[in-house]
Amino acid sequence: MIPQTIDAWQILSWQQELSRAVTDPGELLELLALDRRQLSIALQASMDFPLRVPRPYINRIRPGDPDDPLLLQILPTGRELEQVPGYSTDPLQERQNNPVPGVVHKYHGRVLLIVSPACAINCRYCFRRHFDYGENTQGRGDWERAIHYIAGDPGISEVIYSGGDPLVANDRHLRWLTERLAAINHLRRLRVHTRLPVVIPSRIDSHCLEWMTATRLQPLVVIHSNHAREIDGPVKAAISRLNETGIRVLNQSVLLRGINDDPAALEDLSETLFDAGVLPYYLHLLDRVSGAAHFGVDRRRALEIHRILQARLPGYLVPRLVEELPGAPGKTLLGCSA
Ligand code: SF4
Repeated sequence: MIPQTIDAWQILSWQQELSRAVTDPGELLELLALDRRQLSIALQASMDFPLRVPRPYINRIRPGDPDDPLLLQILPTGRELEQVPGYSTDPLQERQNNPVPGVVHKYHGRVLLIVSPACAINCRYCFRRHFDYGENTQGRGDWERAIHYIAGDPGISEVIYSGGDPLVANDRHLRWLTERLAAINHLRRLRVHTRLPVVIPSRIDSHCLEWMTATRLQPLVVIHSNHAREIDGPVKAAISRLNETGIRVLNQSVLLRGINDDPAALEDLSETLFDAGVLPYYLHLLDRVSGAAHFGVDRRRALEIHRILQARLPGYLVPRLVEELPGAPGKTLLGCSA
């Protein structure tokens, strides 16, 4: 029988938790005692972008609450089927900045490597929900081309492991890739953008910490959390494991209507993150990806929320409010963080 409580799941490896993620909307509704009349629309909405949610995350969702802020991030709904002008399948025009498979080179000095096409969780607002991972799935020859591209540009000082979620890849591959990158003299930092420590915290195990700390590149982990209730005991323990090895941990959030578009919720998130050893870094305006328009918060409201945060929190707990605009040389800063 599959164990249902978080205590029972803690004895499973991260790979087992990954493979036992819930992908059937009917099972999710049943586990969370939600109205099954939503099932047919959830099935329809998940056809293009499937449901995927690991059980440690489900265990933090309040059963019977259709407005739970964690549930709203992962449950496919009919709102995703709405066509809204201004929303597109490639809102950041990444296909134009994809010089070789697996590499996204948008900003000066750093490149994204699409290390894994998969995620442990499918966030309904994801700006890459339509990204062609098929074209960016790496064979050994593709990896050589990606490494060659980075080695050929001395202006690049930082590589960002991205995806999907890079920590879905196995540690042997991540160690190999990190060693190859460390041999490129002009690289200084390795940044890992991942939601795994939040959704399957057991991913931060000794094998993962080993390749992250064995490299001469300075490692930095940027997690993705949008609500304080995502940060439970096992997540705090995972962050402690990173901090104990000297790895800095930052957080980026997306401002999401009905989930965290409220100063009190974001204040709580910043405080909770800092208590856990994480610095709030970015608060992103939603990228205008089709299927996610109902999560959007208008700019005026975003600025108002950010101003309130600035008034209530010390500067180091106020994330920078940013927007990504296609073609811009970096993220566009919206509110100033004093
Ligand atoms: S973890 Fe990140 S990349 Fe993966 S679905 Fe969520 S937002 Fe998208």
